[in-house]
Amino acid sequence: MKPCSYTRAEDTDAAIAIRSAHPQAAYIAGGTTLLDLMKDQVLVPDLLVDITRLPLRGIEVTESLVRIGALTTMSEIAGEPTIRDRYPMIAEALLLSASPQLRNMATIGGNLLQRTRCGYFRDPAFACNKRVPGSGCPAIAGANRMHAILGTSPHCIATHGSDVAVALVALDAVVQVRGPQGERRIPLHDFYVLPGTTPERENVLAQGELIVAVEIPPTFDATRSHYLKVRDRASYEFALTSAAVALEMDGATIRAARIALGGVGTVPWRVRAAEVLLQGASLDRKVFDEAAEAALVGAIPQHDNAFKVGLAKRTLVQALTTVGGLA
Ligand code: SF4
Repeated sequence: MKPCSYTRAEDTDAAIAIRSAHPQAAYIAGGTTLLDLMKDQVLVPDLLVDITRLPLRGIEVTESLVRIGALTTMSEIAGEPTIRDRYPMIAEALLLSASPQLRNMATIGGNLLQRTRCGYFRDPAFACNKRVPGSGCPAIAGANRMHAILGTSPHCIATHGSDVAVALVALDAVVQVRGPQGERRIPLHDFYVLPGTTPERENVLAQGELIVAVEIPPTFDATRSHYLKVRDRASYEFALTSAAVALEMDGATIRAARIALGGVGTVPWRVRAAEVLLQGASLDRKVFDEAAEAALVGAIPQHDNAFKVGLAKRTLVQALTTVGGLA
């Protein structure tokens, strides 16, 4: 492991100043992704800026907002009664994400910034455009069963690994970031960047910027919601496909829907076409099938993962069936 310095930041502005002055530094909180990648020589920061003592932990609930501090752990969020009652799909996504030990350490800020599970990215013996820009993407001709079918490019087909980001994107969550230029709020949907020709750039964070909170606006009633995750084994596994679904009902009619897919996109994949199709419709399996067809328009399967197209449709239909009470 390459030698690396360490410093503990005493306040948020100090952390940002240190990180901004050191282009090769990295923030560290729970460390559940970063330390693994450092041990494997995938990431080689020269300085770790410990942010665990910053006052960015806790959940604030008001009439107008739920605000989650970036250092709040996955376990704390999943156990918060307001999250469980108002946003069941967020709690479910968190509980399905990782082992209890990891959920007790991992923070929501770190979860949103987690790196892909692509095996080529995580093994420096291979080329990888995301790790070494311009070196190539062996996954396209190689083992790509777990890879993305939506939002891919000829330069990268890696799947985004976060479960809770899928639920948060569906609910129009906003990321509050602070950096050398001050604070800004970014819709989570716009926070992530498609790989295009620059897969090394995964989000819109600028040098030194730090996620300080995640906000969930009150604009959608997500009490009827569900996160369904399909994976190869029952625990501690990333999604083959997943669906975050919330329905607002007006009697037997769907007033509005919020839908995003996981395990299939290079970013958490919001599917507005399916939402529009469901708006004003009744709870009906045929309508769910049409929504699922609309959700996968544009999918480009690789040679190992064509099964994901059908599986993602069935995952979405099943999630809609459960939320609609038809199961
Ligand atoms: Fe690297 Fe992306 Fe290709 Fe994986 S899919 S090898 S992360 S460029």
